[in-house]
Amino acid sequence: MSSSESESSQQRRHQEVGHKSLLQSDALYQARFFDSLPIPSLCAYMLETTVYPREPECMKELREITANHPWNIMTTSADEGQFLNMLLKLINAKNTMEIGVYTGYSLLATALALPDDGKILAMDINRENYELGLPVIEKAGVAHKIDFREGPALPVLDLLLEDEKKQGSFDFVFVDADKDNYLNYHKRLLELVKVGGVIAYDNTLWNGSVVAPPDAPLRKYVRYYRDFVLHLNRALAADPRIEICQLPVGDGVTLCRRIK
Ligand code: SAM
Ligand code: CA
Repeated sequence: MSSSESESSQQRRHQEVGHKSLLQSDALYQARFFDSLPIPSLCAYMLETTVYPREPECMKELREITANHPWNIMTTSADEGQFLNMLLKLINAKNTMEIGVYTGYSLLATALALPDDGKILAMDINRENYELGLPVIEKAGVAHKIDFREGPALPVLDLLLEDEKKQGSFDFVFVDADKDNYLNYHKRLLELVKVGGVIAYDNTLWNGSVVAPPDAPLRKYVRYYRDFVLHLNRALAADPRIEICQLPVGDGVTLCRRIK
């Protein structure tokens, strides 16, 4: 294959947004040409140099178990796991929540960062996937920090809000579930997280689809959730109760620090 043929076949493979991680998505792949930034290579460099060599053995094991699962595209990336772990330590988080567990990669990154008496209220509609990663979490000696609840998260948040002691009691919340509910979560979480606490919304760059042209060939689920993500991003940017910072880590994560 000539080099121009190889380049066009490579470009064709990147026509479809939503088939891979953010750094390999179509919009950012194109940006690579516009800005001469070798983004996918930078991603590989970062993983090989900074992330994998420092990844705890248990997280590596969980990542490898998850890689064999049919829905592995849902897992948190290793660089984002490293970021969450560092962030939780920086803010001295102790009482936390996670919405959307899957096999538990971000949950384990969180559990490892918390002090021994730290807590994670973890919610997911699917217990089976959580139980796939649970033996690794148990072996790592951090399962006692986790209170897993099977079922939709919204009713759990509503119940928490009825308890005055729970209001303003969380240091950190990681939201990584149904994107069409993020603003419903936001409404409730702002009362549950303490002033100065952080809510992190995951996938806020949504496979790069937030900048995809209207006629881009998006996967169905990417197209369906894109408007919700766009709406969320606008709403967070306009919300005076929080300070925000959107980072291009993983598939994009927006940190919201409650200030009111
Ligand atoms: N944080 C996980 C990790 O590190 O692997 C990935 C979470 S995955 C992207 C999204 C998860 O949200 C799925 O496991 C799904 O079952 C869960 N989910 C979807 N709707 C939900 C809901 N209404 N309440 C709680 N969990 C939900
Ligand atoms: Ca995610």
